[in-house]
Amino acid sequence: MYLIEVYVTNASLNVNRPFTYIYDQLIEKYCRVRVLFNRSENTAIVSRCTYTDKNEGELKEELGYAPLKIVEVIDEEPVMSDELFNLAIWLAKTTVSPLIACLNSMLPKALKTSRNLSGPKMVSRFHKNEGDFKLTKRQREVYEELYEGIEAAAARKISVSIIRKLIEAGAISEYEEEAVFVNSAIDQRSFKKLTADQERAYEQIINTNKMVSLLFGVTGSGKTEVYLHLARHYLEEGKDVLILVPEISLTPQMIERVKERFSDVVFYHSELSDQERYEQYKRVKDKEVRIVVGTRSAIFLPFSSLGLIIIDEEHDSSYKQDNVPCYHVKNVAFKRAIDHKAKVLLASATPSLESYTRALKGDYQLLELKERINHSFPQIEVIDLNRHLRNNESYIISKPLKNELEKCLNENKQAIILLNRRGYSPIVRCSECGSTLMCNDCDTPLNYHKDEGILKCHQCGKIYRIPDRCPKCGHKPLLFYGFGTKKAEEELQRLFPHASIERMDRDSVGRKGSHQVILKRFENHETDILIGTQMIAKGLDYPDVTLVGILNADAGLMHQDYNSAKVTFDLLMQASGRSGRADHDGKVLIQAFNPDHYVIKAVLLQDYNYFYNIEMNYRNKTSYPPYSHIIEIVLSDGDPSRVRSSADSLYDSLKDLPFKIYRPYELGKVKKLLRYRILIMGKDLLAMLKNTHEAIDAYIAKRNMSRVKIDVDPLYLE
Ligand code: ADP
Ligand code: ZN
Repeated sequence: MYLIEVYVTNASLNVNRPFTYIYDQLIEKYCRVRVLFNRSENTAIVSRCTYTDKNEGELKEELGYAPLKIVEVIDEEPVMSDELFNLAIWLAKTTVSPLIACLNSMLPKALKTSRNLSGPKMVSRFHKNEGDFKLTKRQREVYEELYEGIEAAAARKISVSIIRKLIEAGAISEYEEEAVFVNSAIDQRSFKKLTADQERAYEQIINTNKMVSLLFGVTGSGKTEVYLHLARHYLEEGKDVLILVPEISLTPQMIERVKERFSDVVFYHSELSDQERYEQYKRVKDKEVRIVVGTRSAIFLPFSSLGLIIIDEEHDSSYKQDNVPCYHVKNVAFKRAIDHKAKVLLASATPSLESYTRALKGDYQLLELKERINHSFPQIEVIDLNRHLRNNESYIISKPLKNELEKCLNENKQAIILLNRRGYSPIVRCSECGSTLMCNDCDTPLNYHKDEGILKCHQCGKIYRIPDRCPKCGHKPLLFYGFGTKKAEEELQRLFPHASIERMDRDSVGRKGSHQVILKRFENHETDILIGTQMIAKGLDYPDVTLVGILNADAGLMHQDYNSAKVTFDLLMQASGRSGRADHDGKVLIQAFNPDHYVIKAVLLQDYNYFYNIEMNYRNKTSYPPYSHIIEIVLSDGDPSRVRSSADSLYDSLKDLPFKIYRPYELGKVKKLLRYRILIMGKDLLAMLKNTHEAIDAYIAKRNMSRVKIDVDPLYLE
């Protein structure tokens, strides 16, 4: 008989340890099994399997309980390697999370289906038949568009119904063929010749003996081109390459750029279905594909010999997962690079303070690209909104911005307008008593969404009817204050009735893939003005964009968070970088209420170092990162008195530690849950982690306590 140790998948499970079952056959480690746990069936991952010659009775005596039998073995082969399992253990330690939460984060959901997916992969293709077929005009067009041997899946993307008609008419016929995977064939012709600066960065990354390099290159300096050359180098050496990009920047353009160089590449991102994710996971595991472009979770793919991990826009906050385990992809990348003896390239036009500081200290190799490929920087202008408001102008689009837009449209160029707030109006207030309408479940003001005629909570998504009078004093009418992208879009359309304007924010890209569609239309210049939230600030490289307007540029600075200056600076620098990237001169207009703020000044000067020096000085004085580490503990509960006492009890167990420990602080309510925050700040992260672990383990062992979430080195504070 075999003793099987497993980690049980169960979201509500606080216990962070394996459980022992028995089975009459050997089960390989890291296969999934079904077990009975707390009287219901659950999936689990095998972490150990040892032979025993004891019988069930003897085992019961030895263990003090009768171990249950494994109900069913799910996988024929392990779903992960030793490397990945050890990575999960490391992840649990460094993020203070349960191991099973880490394992679940690392594996694609659909691994459940793995039983049925062995044997050669088949692919369906179409043969174009000869003959005189009766086809409609549209059917004829599609027929012409198809080429011999086109993959059926690709053809059906054009139109499922027309393809069916073509088959019925006998114009094409489907056949199956065993899929052949070319090992990341490289199309050498399409590589651009690197400039001298790019070439130098490329050589230095390959030749350095430092594990990490930081490529600090202004927007449009050709960083992406350097990545692609590096990828080719490591692939030719037989190594795997991973290019990580922020959540939203896997644009059609980016995908095309990679595809034209490497015919076989895995794109791994959140818009894939569970099945697609699983298939891509399998392709990497089976070494069918050696280059992956993906978002955060791609860092957990089962590579066999990584040569290089590139993290594009390394400062981006989407690299931090904001639910448990709250890991930062950079730390995982470093860990994997050590395991694989690989290199890591961090790249950004506005590096994180931490990375830049480490590079200056020499921990990382620092490489700079100071010039744009087209050698021309956009001209930047700051518009003081205080002045323009006094003159009774539109407070959404100021006069200078309106004039520039007019010019831009007359020259048949394109503009991007950034406003980092969606919806119509962010505040609804009573004109009599002045009270603001708030979400019932959150301490958050409601946003007015005009097109749907509703009020919406941007915290929890709850939707409300617009009351016809103030719920507090019964007076009417209600007034709408401030503006979001929807209102700004309306204003733009009013000012430029003939322009084609499109909006991109979380409301307009609700449907899967619609984000790609909007960008495609902009790329084809079917759209003149693209207005949107921070979604449109990143990575877009369109030659006809000559104007970028940033509305309420300093709104982000009002947040009290320690990191808000950096976040705002990054966003404004990113957005300005979209203008004038090709042969035409670019312009950027920044509308702000605090034109003298150092963030706005630094953007005006396009000077990262100017910002860095001021910001680091402030961080030093306040002991915020990178001068310290933070562990944030958030307790939440629907029961206010329990969350208070839970927070007090946890604080008591922490308060004598040799770090700066902040007392429980009440945060606003979210989704009916009252929240308290405890902060631990200090320089010795390892000691902080160890002590926090001990305190949390003891806390979890108590009964009837509030839910707790831990974020190590949070990018912003709750
Ligand atoms: P970044 O990633 O730094 O913002 P990109 O890699 O997008 O910059 O490059 C900006 C533009 O310059 C792109 O349109 C790109 O195709 C072009 N480009 C980059 N490197 C070269 C090169 N060596 N020769 C010609 N064009 C280049
Ligand atoms: Zn809410």
